Amino acid sequence: MRFTRSHTADGPVLCRLDQDGSAPRILWDEKNQRPYARLQELIGLSRDELARLATRPVSAPGKPLAPVVPDRNVFCVGRNYADHAAEFARSGFDATHSSGNGDIPDKPVIFTKPARSIIGPGDEIDPHLELTSALDYEGEIGIVISKPGYRITRKEAMDYVWGYTLINDVTARDLQRDHKQWFLGKSLDTFCPMGPWVVTADEVDPSGISLQTYVNDELRQDSDTSRLIFDIPAIIETLSAGMTLQPGDVIATGTPQGVGIGFTPPRYLKPGDEVVVRASGLGALRNTVGLSSPASVHDANVAGAAQ
Ligand code: MG
Repeated sequence: MRFTRSHTADGPVLCRLDQDGSAPRILWDEKNQRPYARLQELIGLSRDELARLATRPVSAPGKPLAPVVPDRNVFCVGRNYADHAAEFARSGFDATHSSGNGDIPDKPVIFTKPARSIIGPGDEIDPHLELTSALDYEGEIGIVISKPGYRITRKEAMDYVWGYTLINDVTARDLQRDHKQWFLGKSLDTFCPMGPWVVTADEVDPSGISLQTYVNDELRQDSDTSRLIFDIPAIIETLSAGMTLQPGDVIATGTPQGVGIGFTPPRYLKPGDEVVVRASGLGALRNTVGLSSPASVHDANVAGAAQ
Protein backbone atom coordinates (compact mmCIF):
# COMPACT_ATOMS: atom_id res chain seq x y z
CA MET A 1 0.00 0.00 0.00
CA ARG A 2 1.05 3.56 -0.70
CA PHE A 3 0.49 6.51 1.60
CA THR A 4 1.00 10.19 0.98
CA ARG A 5 0.24 13.42 2.81
CA SER A 6 -0.99 16.77 1.66
CA HIS A 7 -1.89 20.10 3.18
CA THR A 8 -5.53 20.94 2.59
CA ALA A 9 -7.93 23.55 3.88
CA ASP A 10 -8.43 21.17 6.84
CA GLY A 11 -4.69 20.97 7.54
CA PRO A 12 -2.41 17.99 6.88
CA VAL A 13 -4.21 14.80 5.77
CA LEU A 14 -2.98 11.30 5.01
CA CYS A 15 -4.15 9.63 1.83
CA ARG A 16 -3.99 6.10 0.47
CA LEU A 17 -3.03 5.80 -3.20
CA ASP A 18 -3.62 3.24 -5.91
CA GLN A 19 -0.79 0.94 -6.93
CA ASP A 20 0.50 3.45 -9.48
CA GLY A 21 0.43 6.35 -7.03
CA SER A 22 -2.80 7.87 -8.39
CA ALA A 23 -6.36 8.30 -7.05
CA PRO A 24 -5.72 9.54 -3.50
CA ARG A 25 -8.41 8.87 -0.87
CA ILE A 26 -8.29 10.68 2.48
CA LEU A 27 -7.93 8.26 5.41
CA TRP A 28 -10.65 8.97 7.92
CA ASP A 29 -10.39 8.32 11.65
CA GLU A 30 -13.99 7.20 12.45
CA LYS A 31 -13.42 7.18 16.18
CA ASN A 32 -12.28 10.78 16.37
CA GLN A 33 -14.19 11.99 13.30
CA ARG A 34 -11.21 13.61 11.65
CA PRO A 35 -8.70 12.81 8.92
CA TYR A 36 -5.54 11.02 9.88
CA ALA A 37 -2.74 13.57 9.75
CA ARG A 38 0.49 11.74 10.63
CA LEU A 39 1.87 8.46 9.33
CA GLN A 40 2.81 7.50 12.91
CA GLU A 41 -0.94 7.07 13.58
CA LEU A 42 -1.03 4.19 11.06
CA ILE A 43 2.26 2.48 11.77
CA GLY A 44 0.96 0.26 14.58
CA LEU A 45 -1.92 -1.10 12.45
CA SER A 46 -1.89 -4.50 10.72
CA ARG A 47 -2.14 -4.77 6.96
CA ASP A 48 -5.77 -5.84 7.29
CA GLU A 49 -6.56 -2.89 9.55
CA LEU A 50 -4.86 -0.57 7.08
CA ALA A 51 -6.89 -2.00 4.22
CA ARG A 52 -10.13 -1.54 6.18
CA LEU A 53 -9.59 2.11 7.14
CA ALA A 54 -12.44 4.39 6.16
CA THR A 55 -11.70 6.80 3.34
CA ARG A 56 -13.19 9.98 1.99
CA PRO A 57 -12.80 11.51 -1.47
CA VAL A 58 -10.37 14.34 -1.97
CA SER A 59 -12.49 17.39 -2.77
CA ALA A 60 -9.63 19.71 -3.69
CA PRO A 61 -6.04 18.53 -4.10
CA GLY A 62 -3.85 20.01 -1.42
CA LYS A 63 -0.19 20.89 -1.44
CA PRO A 64 1.95 17.73 -1.35
CA LEU A 65 3.79 17.16 1.93
CA ALA A 66 6.55 14.78 2.92
CA PRO A 67 4.72 11.51 3.70
CA VAL A 68 6.32 11.13 7.12
CA VAL A 69 8.07 13.50 9.49
CA PRO A 70 9.95 11.68 12.26
CA ASP A 71 9.78 12.89 15.85
CA ARG A 72 13.52 13.49 15.76
CA ASN A 73 16.36 13.83 13.27
CA VAL A 74 16.53 11.77 10.09
CA PHE A 75 19.31 9.19 10.48
CA CYS A 76 21.64 8.97 7.48
CA VAL A 77 24.41 6.71 6.25
CA GLY A 78 27.37 8.28 4.46
CA ARG A 79 29.73 6.67 1.93
CA ASN A 80 27.57 3.57 1.62
CA TYR A 81 28.12 2.75 -2.07
CA ALA A 82 31.71 1.90 -3.06
CA ASP A 83 31.70 3.95 -6.26
CA HIS A 84 30.40 7.01 -4.38
CA ALA A 85 32.91 6.53 -1.54
CA ALA A 86 35.65 6.62 -4.18
CA GLU A 87 34.35 9.74 -5.94
CA PHE A 88 33.93 11.51 -2.58
CA ALA A 89 37.50 10.65 -1.54
CA ARG A 90 38.83 11.92 -4.88
CA SER A 91 36.90 15.18 -4.61
CA GLY A 92 38.85 16.39 -1.57
CA PHE A 93 35.62 17.48 0.15
CA ASP A 94 35.64 14.84 2.87
CA ALA A 95 37.38 16.40 5.86
CA THR A 96 37.05 13.14 7.77
CA HIS A 97 38.97 11.16 5.19
CA SER A 98 41.98 12.55 3.34
CA SER A 99 44.17 9.66 2.29
CA GLY A 100 42.44 8.77 -0.96
CA ASN A 101 43.11 5.13 -0.12
CA GLY A 102 40.93 2.69 1.72
CA ASP A 103 37.78 4.57 0.67
CA ILE A 104 35.46 1.83 1.88
CA PRO A 105 34.47 2.47 5.51
CA ASP A 106 35.03 -0.33 8.03
CA LYS A 107 31.81 0.54 9.85
CA PRO A 108 28.73 2.48 8.75
CA VAL A 109 29.27 6.26 8.74
CA ILE A 110 26.25 7.74 10.55
CA PHE A 111 25.11 11.36 10.67
CA THR A 112 21.73 13.09 10.95
CA LYS A 113 19.62 15.82 9.39
CA PRO A 114 17.05 17.76 11.46
CA ALA A 115 13.40 16.89 10.85
CA ARG A 116 12.90 20.61 10.23
CA SER A 117 15.00 20.35 7.07
CA ILE A 118 12.34 18.09 5.50
CA ILE A 119 10.32 19.45 2.58
CA GLY A 120 7.72 17.80 0.38
CA PRO A 121 7.53 16.90 -3.30
CA GLY A 122 7.49 20.05 -5.44
CA ASP A 123 8.81 22.31 -2.68
CA GLU A 124 11.73 24.55 -3.57
CA ILE A 125 15.21 23.80 -2.31
CA ASP A 126 16.66 27.02 -0.88
CA PRO A 127 20.04 27.59 -2.64
CA HIS A 128 21.40 29.44 0.45
CA LEU A 129 23.52 31.51 -1.95
CA GLU A 130 24.94 33.58 0.91
CA LEU A 131 26.33 30.47 2.61
CA THR A 132 27.35 27.98 -0.08
CA SER A 133 28.71 27.88 -3.60
CA ALA A 134 28.77 24.07 -3.68
CA LEU A 135 25.14 22.91 -3.56
CA ASP A 136 24.85 19.19 -4.31
CA TYR A 137 22.23 16.42 -4.55
CA GLU A 138 22.21 12.84 -3.25
CA GLY A 139 19.36 10.56 -4.33
CA GLU A 140 18.67 7.91 -1.66
CA ILE A 141 16.27 5.22 -0.53
CA GLY A 142 14.71 6.06 2.85
CA ILE A 143 13.30 3.47 5.24
CA VAL A 144 10.60 4.04 7.87
CA ILE A 145 10.82 2.12 11.15
CA SER A 146 7.76 0.14 12.30
CA LYS A 147 8.13 -0.47 16.05
CA PRO A 148 10.41 0.24 19.01
CA GLY A 149 13.60 -1.80 18.82
CA TYR A 150 16.81 -2.11 20.79
CA ARG A 151 19.76 -4.38 19.96
CA ILE A 152 18.02 -5.57 16.80
CA THR A 153 19.91 -8.41 15.13
CA ARG A 154 20.49 -8.72 11.39
CA LYS A 155 18.12 -11.66 11.29
CA GLU A 156 15.16 -9.78 12.75
CA ALA A 157 15.97 -6.35 11.28
CA MET A 158 13.52 -6.45 8.37
CA ASP A 159 10.63 -6.93 10.81
CA TYR A 160 11.34 -3.36 11.91
CA VAL A 161 10.94 -1.84 8.44
CA TRP A 162 7.45 -0.42 7.88
CA GLY A 163 8.03 1.08 4.48
CA TYR A 164 10.21 2.89 1.98
CA THR A 165 10.35 6.36 0.47
CA LEU A 166 12.72 8.59 -1.51
CA ILE A 167 15.04 11.20 -0.02
CA ASN A 168 17.30 13.80 -1.58
CA ASP A 169 20.14 14.33 0.93
CA VAL A 170 20.89 17.87 -0.27
CA THR A 171 24.36 18.96 0.82
CA ALA A 172 26.43 22.16 0.90
CA ARG A 173 29.80 20.57 0.11
CA ASP A 174 31.86 23.56 1.26
CA LEU A 175 30.14 23.64 4.67
CA GLN A 176 30.45 19.85 4.94
CA ARG A 177 34.20 20.21 4.36
CA ASP A 178 34.94 23.42 6.24
CA HIS A 179 33.07 22.58 9.46
CA LYS A 180 34.71 19.13 9.61
CA GLN A 181 31.62 17.37 10.88
CA TRP A 182 28.99 16.91 8.19
CA PHE A 183 25.97 18.06 10.21
CA LEU A 184 25.84 21.74 9.21
CA GLY A 185 26.36 21.16 5.49
CA LYS A 186 23.55 18.59 5.51
CA SER A 187 21.06 20.43 7.69
CA LEU A 188 20.17 23.80 6.19
CA ASP A 189 16.46 24.54 5.88
CA THR A 190 14.90 22.66 2.92
CA PHE A 191 17.85 20.24 2.58
CA CYS A 192 15.76 17.07 3.04
CA PRO A 193 13.20 16.64 0.24
CA MET A 194 11.18 13.46 0.90
CA GLY A 195 8.37 11.59 -0.87
CA PRO A 196 6.24 11.41 -2.88
CA TRP A 197 4.81 8.48 -0.91
CA VAL A 198 5.70 5.69 1.52
CA VAL A 199 5.16 2.17 0.18
CA THR A 200 4.72 -0.59 2.74
CA ALA A 201 7.54 -3.09 3.16
CA ASP A 202 5.49 -6.09 1.99
CA GLU A 203 5.52 -4.66 -1.55
CA VAL A 204 9.27 -4.05 -1.85
CA ASP A 205 12.27 -6.33 -2.37
CA PRO A 206 14.84 -4.28 -0.45
CA SER A 207 17.82 -6.03 -2.00
CA GLY A 208 17.16 -4.78 -5.50
CA ILE A 209 15.54 -1.33 -5.53
CA SER A 210 16.79 0.55 -8.59
CA LEU A 211 17.59 4.21 -7.93
CA GLN A 212 18.14 7.06 -10.37
CA THR A 213 18.72 10.80 -10.00
CA TYR A 214 18.20 13.28 -12.83
CA VAL A 215 19.23 16.95 -12.95
CA ASN A 216 17.31 18.85 -15.63
CA ASP A 217 16.39 15.49 -17.21
CA GLU A 218 20.03 14.37 -17.42
CA LEU A 219 20.68 11.02 -15.71
CA ARG A 220 23.36 11.57 -13.06
CA GLN A 221 22.98 8.60 -10.67
CA ASP A 222 21.91 5.07 -11.64
CA SER A 223 22.37 2.22 -9.18
CA ASP A 224 20.46 -0.16 -6.95
CA THR A 225 20.41 -1.28 -3.35
CA SER A 226 22.23 -4.54 -4.13
CA ARG A 227 25.34 -2.35 -4.24
CA LEU A 228 25.05 -0.96 -0.70
CA ILE A 229 28.22 -1.56 1.33
CA PHE A 230 26.15 -1.89 4.51
CA ASP A 231 22.73 -3.31 3.69
CA ILE A 232 19.52 -2.40 5.51
CA PRO A 233 19.84 -5.11 8.21
CA ALA A 234 23.40 -3.96 8.92
CA ILE A 235 22.28 -0.32 9.20
CA ILE A 236 19.44 -1.21 11.59
CA GLU A 237 21.70 -3.45 13.66
CA THR A 238 24.28 -0.65 13.97
CA LEU A 239 21.81 2.11 14.85
CA SER A 240 19.88 0.07 17.40
CA ALA A 241 22.94 -1.42 19.14
CA GLY A 242 22.79 1.22 21.86
CA MET A 243 19.91 3.48 20.84
CA THR A 244 16.23 2.52 20.79
CA LEU A 245 14.66 2.99 17.37
CA GLN A 246 11.11 4.36 17.36
CA PRO A 247 8.11 3.96 15.05
CA GLY A 248 8.32 6.63 12.38
CA ASP A 249 12.09 6.99 12.53
CA VAL A 250 13.48 7.56 9.05
CA ILE A 251 16.85 6.31 7.81
CA ALA A 252 18.46 7.54 4.57
CA THR A 253 20.55 4.62 3.36
CA GLY A 254 23.23 6.42 1.33
CA THR A 255 23.79 7.69 -2.19
CA PRO A 256 25.52 6.06 -5.18
CA GLN A 257 28.05 7.47 -7.63
CA GLY A 258 27.18 10.51 -9.71
CA VAL A 259 26.79 13.42 -7.28
CA GLY A 260 27.94 16.86 -8.43
CA ILE A 261 31.39 16.62 -6.85
CA GLY A 262 31.96 13.32 -8.64
CA PHE A 263 32.47 15.26 -11.89
CA THR A 264 35.58 17.18 -12.97
CA PRO A 265 34.97 20.04 -12.73
CA PRO A 266 32.18 19.62 -10.16
CA ARG A 267 28.63 20.13 -11.41
CA TYR A 268 26.89 21.92 -8.57
CA LEU A 269 23.20 22.73 -8.49
CA LYS A 270 22.19 26.20 -9.64
CA PRO A 271 19.04 28.24 -9.03
CA GLY A 272 16.31 26.93 -11.33
CA ASP A 273 17.72 23.40 -11.64
CA GLU A 274 15.24 20.54 -11.26
CA VAL A 275 16.31 17.41 -9.37
CA VAL A 276 14.28 14.20 -9.73
CA VAL A 277 15.00 11.10 -7.64
CA ARG A 278 13.27 7.92 -8.87
CA ALA A 279 13.19 4.33 -7.70
CA SER A 280 11.33 1.19 -8.70
CA GLY A 281 7.96 1.21 -6.95
CA LEU A 282 8.67 4.41 -5.04
CA GLY A 283 7.67 7.00 -7.63
CA ALA A 284 9.54 10.19 -8.43
CA LEU A 285 10.58 12.93 -5.99
CA ARG A 286 10.79 16.21 -7.90
CA ASN A 287 12.15 19.48 -6.48
CA THR A 288 13.50 22.67 -8.03
CA VAL A 289 16.28 24.84 -6.66
CA GLY A 290 14.81 28.25 -5.83
CA LEU A 291 16.04 31.41 -7.54
CA SER A 292 16.81 33.08 -4.21
CA SER A 293 16.45 32.55 -0.49
CA PRO A 294 13.34 33.65 1.40
CA ALA A 295 14.00 36.76 3.48
CA SER A 296 12.79 35.13 6.71
CA VAL A 297 11.47 31.86 8.10
CA HIS A 298 10.82 29.21 5.45
CA ASP A 299 7.05 29.13 5.08
CA ALA A 300 7.25 26.26 2.58
CA ASN A 301 9.41 24.34 5.02
CA VAL A 302 6.89 24.82 7.79
CA ALA A 303 4.13 23.51 5.53
CA GLY A 304 6.30 20.74 4.12
CA ALA A 305 7.16 19.35 7.51
CA ALA A 306 3.82 20.18 9.11
CA GLN A 307 2.94 17.74 11.83
MG1 MG B 1 23.70 11.03 1.75
